Amino acid sequence: LPRRAVAVVTGANRGIGYEISRQLALHGLHVVLASRDASRGQEAAERLLQEAAEHSSVEWQQLDVTDAASVEAFAAWTAQTHGGIHVLVNNAGVNFNRGADNSVESAEQVIETNYFGTRRMIEAMIPLFKPSPYGGRIVNVSSRLGRADGRRNRIGDASLREQLLTDDRLSEELIDGMVMKFLEQVKQDTWSSIEWPQMYTDYSVSKLAVNAYTRLVARRLLDRPEGQKIYINCFCPGWVKTAMTGWEGNISAEEGADTAVWLALLPQEQSTIGKFFAERREINF
Ligand code: NDP
Repeated sequence: LPRRAVAVVTGANRGIGYEISRQLALHGLHVVLASRDASRGQEAAERLLQEAAEHSSVEWQQLDVTDAASVEAFAAWTAQTHGGIHVLVNNAGVNFNRGADNSVESAEQVIETNYFGTRRMIEAMIPLFKPSPYGGRIVNVSSRLGRADGRRNRIGDASLREQLLTDDRLSEELIDGMVMKFLEQVKQDTWSSIEWPQMYTDYSVSKLAVNAYTRLVARRLLDRPEGQKIYINCFCPGWVKTAMTGWEGNISAEEGADTAVWLALLPQEQSTIGKFFAERREINF
């Protein structure tokens, strides 16, 4: 990537997003640290400037990924201030389940943030990628819980599962249809853990949608001409000590951020498109 390539990181005021921002800044990128709350974001940007190396380049910008007007304003600001971007990391996310708790009370917010927020950002930002001989990068922060066919966490409907795993069957309608069907069942209180993931159900459905959407967008980006390529992939950071896990987990945010930074900086010859990673290795969807 060119020096001072512009990287946008969502939900970057704390946790893994903050760490991804810090590491990208250390690699010489200009980081737009985006957060929904102004004071939390500004404080984080100031802290980052103190913690990162001298001459690091970081700025804060407001962004609530669930708010279409905020995403639109963010895209307009990015176009005007930077003329475009090179890297987008969709990290903003929520999860309200802990331990064995599997409630779906917050299902709407979880799916709105994790899936529709990611999708909204991708739709708004793809037109803003700068032409570059290095290609652009989109990294979606996902989770192994979002595997369609995980041993303990699978989608019960075999036909839906198969469609979600078959690239040429994927469409926005299929993915949206799945999440809307789930939300409708939650609303009616008819959802069942036989049909839907057994662990962290609403969160797992949201990340399953992120994974499928990553592959759908990847297919569309494949045909872009040389100089305008965008490499989109998703990854699981592992079980990370952040607010989301109540600081449980077995690795630090610094370690959790590693694969995202690696994917964002991987040279074009080694870059993949539409794949799922963990610990710098490709894993199954
Ligand atoms: P944190 O809760 O520490 O950070 C989440 C970040 O997302 C916060 O900055 C939060 O902002 C932001 N956010 C939430 N909602 C919105 C919104 N509507 N618009 C913009 N930003 C928003 O959690 P982590 O750092 O652990 O999580 C980061 C990502 O990693 C998430 O996508 C998560 O699903 C994923 N992940 C985490 C794992 C873990 O073990 N921790 C495991 C697998 C995946 P605010 O401070 O304002 O709440």
